[in-house]
Amino acid sequence: MRSDRGFRSLERWTASAPAVGLLLVGLVALLYHRTTSEFLADARSVEEAHEVESRLGALLRSSIDVETAQRGYVLTGDPDFLGPLRAAEARIALEGETLRARIRDPEQRERLDALFELLRHRIGIAEETIAIREQAGFEAARRVIASGEGRHAQDQLRDAVARMEEREAVLLDEREARRDESLRLSLALLTIGFLLAVLAIAASLGRVRRDLRFREEAEAGLREANRELDTAKQRAEEADRVKSAFLAAMSHELRTPLNSIIGFTGILHQGLAGPLNPEQERQLGMVQASGRHLLGLINDVLDLSKLEARELAVQPEPFDVRRTLEALVASFAPQAERKGIALRSSLAPDLGVRVSDRRRFEQIVLNLVQNAIKFTEKGTVEVRAIGKDALLEVAITDTGIGIAPEEVERIFAPFHQVESGTARRHDGTGLGLAISRKLAALLGGEIRVESRKGEGSTFTFSLPAPKAERE
Ligand code: ADP
Repeated sequence: MRSDRGFRSLERWTASAPAVGLLLVGLVALLYHRTTSEFLADARSVEEAHEVESRLGALLRSSIDVETAQRGYVLTGDPDFLGPLRAAEARIALEGETLRARIRDPEQRERLDALFELLRHRIGIAEETIAIREQAGFEAARRVIASGEGRHAQDQLRDAVARMEEREAVLLDEREARRDESLRLSLALLTIGFLLAVLAIAASLGRVRRDLRFREEAEAGLREANRELDTAKQRAEEADRVKSAFLAAMSHELRTPLNSIIGFTGILHQGLAGPLNPEQERQLGMVQASGRHLLGLINDVLDLSKLEARELAVQPEPFDVRRTLEALVASFAPQAERKGIALRSSLAPDLGVRVSDRRRFEQIVLNLVQNAIKFTEKGTVEVRAIGKDALLEVAITDTGIGIAPEEVERIFAPFHQVESGTARRHDGTGLGLAISRKLAALLGGEIRVESRKGEGSTFTFSLPAPKAERE
């Protein structure tokens, strides 16, 4: 029980594994995208820190170039030194712009502003010294240099750059640490995503494999069941054949002697073989009645078996419906008279000729009329026939004992009789209606019944014309 529940929860898990796996993989991919972007941003800021460091160095070198050019010009008065001076000034301006764009740390920006102030100051001193050299000559310019103002400014510059480089180095360390952290995180996420994907795929594959196994097992079961079904069918067919053979043999073996019993009893009964005393006559009458009953039962059982085995062949022939029914009703007249029942018939004049199995048609109507007379103690039994379009309807109405609603369908079951056991007042086998309904269906028709207990019944046998006749 517990393992069953465990299996079911495993089943549920594996069923949703692909979806959950996909969801997780999506989530991991999203996180991976974020951390990777962060890593790239950190890597960029590390690069920028390196760039800032190198540009600061370049700035310092350019300021030294300014000093060198200034000294060269003061010493020689050669205007060739002015070219490198201007170039260094231009480089300083350019580097300054780039640095301003790169540096985002507020502390460093302040320091950069101060550095520029110092650079401007240093360039100002150089320009001033050069101007003095031009206007007042070498000595005056040398004095300016000797005052040490330029060197002092250069020292200040060096310090400022060193401070900035120190700070940049700290920033660089921080950024490198952050970048490495981002890299680790994104690698970890990548690994997790990969593992999840592998897990989801494995779970799906496992499920598919199990489904395939289940299907194979089910198919094997089905094949086995089919084989058993085939064997059972063969056995049933064999049994059916044996039953039919038995019934055929029985009908022959029983009917032949029975007919001779009935025949010879009749001869004796009529006194053709010599006179009989009243007791002998009564007893021979009983033998003959029992013989007829037995023959009827054998014939009914045989009919029902053939109908159930679908072995009863229909033998259609054209017959005059009205005449057939008239003769049939007339044959019941003595029986009805004996019971004091009025037997009437109301047959439409245009019933015409039908093509059907006349013997079976008669058997059905005969059975219904026989029942009507049998289950009616007083009153009437009426046989009506009408031909509505292609439909022939024969209705047998009696004023007999009637049938309770809950019995109406049951009476068509073989051997079912409303009165049974010792309460039975009427003879019969209980097979008549079962055979009649099956025969009616075999001819393409049906039997309906309407009845009220204690008031009487109407059995209607309706028979549509065969297709060929209707066209
Ligand atoms: P059987 O007449 O030999 O008993 P049937 O199959 O012909 O067998 O009828 C089955 C049962 O249906 C009868 O035993 C009887 O109880 C009931 N039944 C048939 N016809 C009538 C009828 N006209 N009126 C009342 N009951 C009937």
